[in-house]
Amino acid sequence: MSRNSSLQALVLSVRPFGEDNRIVKFLSKEKGIFDAVLYGGPKSKLRAYVSPYHFGNLWIYTDETKHSIKITDFEVIKYHPEIRENLFKTWCASFCSELVIKTDACGEYEKIWTLANGFLDGISVSSEDECRIAFLRFIWRYIGIMGLQCDTESCLHCGENLTNSKGKIYFSILENGFICENCFNQSNDSFFELSSEAIIFLQAVTLLSPKEARSIPLHFSTTQQLHEFLTFLINRYTGCKLKTLEMSSGIL
Ligand SMILES: [Zn+2]
Repeated sequence: MSRNSSLQALVLSVRPFGEDNRIVKFLSKEKGIFDAVLYGGPKSKLRAYVSPYHFGNLWIYTDETKHSIKITDFEVIKYHPEIRENLFKTWCASFCSELVIKTDACGEYEKIWTLANGFLDGISVSSEDECRIAFLRFIWRYIGIMGLQCDTESCLHCGENLTNSKGKIYFSILENGFICENCFNQSNDSFFELSSEAIIFLQAVTLLSPKEARSIPLHFSTTQQLHEFLTFLINRYTGCKLKTLEMSSGIL
């Protein structure tokens, strides 16, 4: 059985297929992540429309017997041109795309659809400094959708409230959780040391609305601290070394 259908989709990646054709990976709310073939040479108008991080209305033809999907049309609603004009934004978008593909959007298509589109829209209109913080929110929310956010409110051992903690806060790599200064035994473990500003930021991203969380400023040193910590966590939780993170030196 074959059929024509249409849906809203985000282009995650495009790669060559045969001489003139391309295989395009899309994310949609209904179908999750799927491949579709784009036929046509360099002069094809569709080829310019179907580019990474473009969002729009997609028309496809599904051939059930051949297990193939062909792109018949794509109407771009958002081009996100700013992403291509800035190296850091391009890197953020390709990280987003790689993460979504490698985790198959955690099987949570609707939630990842909202998160990924919100992230790309956000970095399009933000300054580079704001993008660096948006990147941190994006990873922490992604970890939340994976169901792997650890408790940021109390010490894993003694239950002390970390928000009011005057001492240092550690993330134990071995125990995968936050520990207060009194309970932490540095000689036994590999760890990240985080400021209370970093902990409060993570809590805010979990608890507040995206709009409220966006208004929380971060010192540059905390941004760096969280970048190191969250990129470590996302590599750990996805179980794969994300290529975009390996390529990040020189951009960050
Ligand atoms: Zn403790």
